[in-house]
Amino acid sequence: MSDSALNVLQNTFGFESFRGFQGEVIREVTEGRDALVLMPTGGGKSLCYQVPALVMAGTAIVVSPLIALMEDQISNLKQIGVRAESLHSGVSLEEQYRIEQELFTGHLDLLYVAPERLMTEMMQRKLDQVRVSLFAIDEAHCVSQWGHDFRPEYLQLSVLKTRFPNVPRIALTATADKRTRQEIIERLGLDQARVFVDSFNRANIFYRISQKKQGKQQLLRFLEKEHPEDSGIVYCLSRKRVEDTAAWLNAQGRKALPYHGGMTAYDRKNNQHRFLQEEGMIIVATLAFGMGIDKPDVRFVAHLDLPRSIEAYYQETGRAGRDGLPATAWMVYGLQDVMLLRQIQSNSMAAPEIQRIEQQKLEAMLSLCEVTGCRRQVLLEYFDEPLKEKCGNCDLCLEPVTTWDGTEAARKALSCVYRTGQMFGVSHLVDVLLGKETAKVSQFGHRQLTTFGIGSEFKQSEWRSVFRQLVARGFINVDVEGHGALKLNEKCRPLLKGNERLLLRQDRYEYATEKAARKT
Ligand code: ADP
Ligand code: ZN
Repeated sequence: MSDSALNVLQNTFGFESFRGFQGEVIREVTEGRDALVLMPTGGGKSLCYQVPALVMAGTAIVVSPLIALMEDQISNLKQIGVRAESLHSGVSLEEQYRIEQELFTGHLDLLYVAPERLMTEMMQRKLDQVRVSLFAIDEAHCVSQWGHDFRPEYLQLSVLKTRFPNVPRIALTATADKRTRQEIIERLGLDQARVFVDSFNRANIFYRISQKKQGKQQLLRFLEKEHPEDSGIVYCLSRKRVEDTAAWLNAQGRKALPYHGGMTAYDRKNNQHRFLQEEGMIIVATLAFGMGIDKPDVRFVAHLDLPRSIEAYYQETGRAGRDGLPATAWMVYGLQDVMLLRQIQSNSMAAPEIQRIEQQKLEAMLSLCEVTGCRRQVLLEYFDEPLKEKCGNCDLCLEPVTTWDGTEAARKALSCVYRTGQMFGVSHLVDVLLGKETAKVSQFGHRQLTTFGIGSEFKQSEWRSVFRQLVARGFINVDVEGHGALKLNEKCRPLLKGNERLLLRQDRYEYATEKAARKT
């Protein structure tokens, strides 16, 4: 390691030594070679290009997708005396002029730019006239359609290689699955780059997923029992649920603040600030909250709604326990979540190719929820980092789930879907199985069906569990045009014919009240 890099680390950043492979990455870049860095959130990616920016002659150009992220980094850098600026749509013309002058006169160590800005012909011509030390492409997964945050403007970054062949490029991301990685390499022309992959295992995080039954109540009891005074983040899918949940937690005597895109920038900033400063503060947020949040002692991340993908789940839960001390990733989910996400997806305007990818991601997320083995094994497998032994630090390792032979139950459920014409939602189907004489049953004459009342051996919640698992495992599709009507998938044929057996999970309603919980 060159002395100057270590000098910069200690004297400018005030850190003793490099973490993990930071030192190696920095050597690679300062010696003029390309690098691809895959490191979980909080791993210390920024130093991998900030140190070279200070060691090498010229200005480092940093591509970043979010203005807030850029501003955050720049204000931190300025505080320690680094000459960093940014060019994006929020910068006034006067400011831009000043910044460009500094660029031309060689007075900038780092310049952060939005990708669409960097790719303008004008910007590139300006760069031709200055000495560029390196290009850093942050959040590089944005170039991948398979990644969870595709941004078309990232695609043009491939031009950098041909336009500035002598400038080293470093791409960084916290998304590490093989497909995304491959796409980044192809699309950014990084086939010569050395790839650095950090472990994605967050060993101090305890993972726990259970069935939803009055989610807010379950959340409250979880907090009372396990985190009575801790700070944490609660994620919800919609703004309204964020508001409701925050208000409700306050009414229950917890300090909680909302955070979502519908609030003013001022309120968001304010709440974020209080979350960082005050002890025992809970932030209730939509799934977007957290990029760039660096709070080491977040003791729990709770999901009241199902995230759309394992990447999102991993990123969000990854905000817990950055200080390395024990932390909990807690989630409740139910059939409604699955239906809602399927619905959002089918209503999406995205191209069919993208929709198919989103579909596959949701399937992977659902299999993490419904798995009967170790959660961490499933999670790390998804990131192509197989874990040989069970982790011993997830709900399923501590309390193995019991399974039961659900073949008969599944066949009854499926034939009920079929006999009612594949036009009805879960509630009605369960009523038919239980033989309930509802208005809908008489309206459609469902009393006459052979499936009417054939399911009285189970309770309503048990049938819902069967349906949830059938949907989650792809035996049943949710018809979005038909208001959540369930339809049979081809996949259920062998099951219906009796050629396949099906093991189902015994559900666990953690922290639900006696009354709400399913008695087993
Ligand atoms: P990432 O971008 O990978 O999410 P950051 O670059 O924001 O992570 O770094 C996360 C935290 O770790 C920051 O607070 C940073 O100051 C700290 N950090 C990074 N590298 C080191 C190091 N070598 N020694 C001590 N702290 C470090
Ligand atoms: Zn485990």
